[in-house]
Amino acid sequence: MKKTYPIARPFIDEDDKRSVLSVLDTPYLSIGPKVVEFEKKFADFIGTEHACAVNSGTAGLHLALITIGIGAGDEVITTPFSFVASSNAILYVGAKPVFVDIEPVTFNIDPEKIESKITSKTKAILVVHVFGQTADMGRIIKIARKYKLKIIEDACESIGAKYHGKKAGTFGNVAVFAFYPNKQMTTGEGGIIVTDNKRIHALCCSLRNQGRAANMGWLDHKYLGYNYRLDEMSAALGVSQIKKINFLINKKKEIAGWYNEFLKDSDVINPPVIGPGRDHSWFVYVITVNKNRKQRDEIIKNLDKAGVHAKTYFPSIHLFSFYRKSFNFKRGDFPVSEKISNGSIALPFYIGISKDDVKYICRELFKML
Ligand SMILES: *Cc1c(COP(=O)(O)O)cnc(C)c1O
Repeated sequence: MKKTYPIARPFIDEDDKRSVLSVLDTPYLSIGPKVVEFEKKFADFIGTEHACAVNSGTAGLHLALITIGIGAGDEVITTPFSFVASSNAILYVGAKPVFVDIEPVTFNIDPEKIESKITSKTKAILVVHVFGQTADMGRIIKIARKYKLKIIEDACESIGAKYHGKKAGTFGNVAVFAFYPNKQMTTGEGGIIVTDNKRIHALCCSLRNQGRAANMGWLDHKYLGYNYRLDEMSAALGVSQIKKINFLINKKKEIAGWYNEFLKDSDVINPPVIGPGRDHSWFVYVITVNKNRKQRDEIIKNLDKAGVHAKTYFPSIHLFSFYRKSFNFKRGDFPVSEKISNGSIALPFYIGISKDDVKYICRELFKML
């Protein structure tokens, strides 16, 4: 049978299996010690005071927006080049996502274009660090200070990434990471909210648990809350995964290096570029090709036939039918984002893929250009 290459695959070892199974010998399958241990280890790794584990990155973004005070009628500046969850979460709280186009190099929000979108309703900037690379936080923080805006980091794709030596997740009022199986580390489903702000942290922990008052047991529900709790099996996987996060990131860095080596001599393929001052933490390996959208789709289809699964990463959010219908967005509104969307291809990228596999994938890709 011909070998096939998925785009992503989680890395699970014996230690992970032991960690999850050990939970099943205890009576604590939810609200137990593993969540607490995971939160502590995660906050230590990122370097924040607090961490609050939840059952998805999307849930984390929802609570982050609530707890910094974003609500109906507010505007939040964000990027159209992201996974749809980052702007959906803004809609959950009744606010309006105001898109700003991206930089052509890092594919992150372009600070140059933010100020012209600020109005009297603007309350926050929701920055997304895409693919494992941070946005230009120096300039974004300056703008946020000038206009007194809050910053939320969607760091779901960028655990371990750095901007001038400082880790993603330490720049905003609040930041969110996610652990779906394609991310750098996984808990199955899961996410976590990090912050140095004690009030935000306490409120997140209450809201994930039905809005229960922290000091009143189950007796009082102080807020309208949710069930966004992370279960203990997932948290146990988080504990064993965060212990090897540097290994996980370094392995993917090595694989990215192989791709870079095999793809460097093409005038059609643009390998990922790392912006100034950035340490990349390699969520996905995304190239762009100098072809039109139809030709790019054809390449993806042909790669699939060769057993190489690839896909466009990302389609621009403003062109999804729900967003077009709700906000009258059209093609041409955010040209840089659309250009990257039309030319991008995410290639198979997971621990266990060998240098020979990468060579084969690149050879197939060259045949299809
Ligand atoms: C993965 C991801 C999320 C969160 O996804 P969940 O599936 O809800 O954990 C949010 N934003 C971005 C940019 C992501 O890549």
